[in-house]
Amino acid sequence: MIVSLCGTPGTGKTTVCRQIPPKEAMVMDMNALITELVPDPCHDPASDSLVVDVDELRRGLAAFQWPEAGLILIEGHLSYLAPSDLCLLLRLDPREIKNRLLRRGYSETKARENAEAEGVGTLQIWAMEEETSRLAGQDPEGIVPGCGLVLERDVTGMEPGDIASWIHEMVRGYDEKELKRLIPYRPGNVDWLEVLSDWF
Ligand code: ADP
Ligand code: MG
Repeated sequence: MIVSLCGTPGTGKTTVCRQIPPKEAMVMDMNALITELVPDPCHDPASDSLVVDVDELRRGLAAFQWPEAGLILIEGHLSYLAPSDLCLLLRLDPREIKNRLLRRGYSETKARENAEAEGVGTLQIWAMEEETSRLAGQDPEGIVPGCGLVLERDVTGMEPGDIASWIHEMVRGYDEKELKRLIPYRPGNVDWLEVLSDWF
């Protein structure tokens, strides 16, 4: 089973993965995978980020020989592009995102950009697009869909260990087809409109 652990930078993906023992899941770093599959990303000075050719990345991900491990957890904000069974999206109060990214040394502009992306749910929308195209079958243009079922949770105030337990619960629920355990986490319950309205 392949699981995308997704979330805006700063939501705590890498931290939570450190809580998961190697015998329980094989953790893969999406950024490392991107570097392997798309060796020459260009650097965009305006956003200070790497820009990859998404079609090239999709083709690379589709052809990738996934390890035969029981559970593979791909962590990274672009992991929704990976052909996973389940996409677990960590959501976090945008004010906390901004604080964490400033502490990490991001510029004010970049920290705010990420907080705003979280505020409007950019990754949730993109992940849901992948889920939809997977349900609809492969695109006639040959675009290989990414993640499958999307679930999300507001992890504001949660300890990394509790987030790791939630991940296990969702993986088990999916594996055992226990939809009623998953449905409370279907996208649509996390809403940062009130936080955003203070900013604009
Ligand atoms: P990501 O991998 O999603 O970008 P990180 O795991 O690097 O996020 O976490 C970003 C920052 O937030 C780090 O400084 C980390 O210590 C802190 N952090 C992560 N998870 C939590 C948590 N559950 N509670 C409080 N702080 C956290
Ligand atoms: Mg990280």
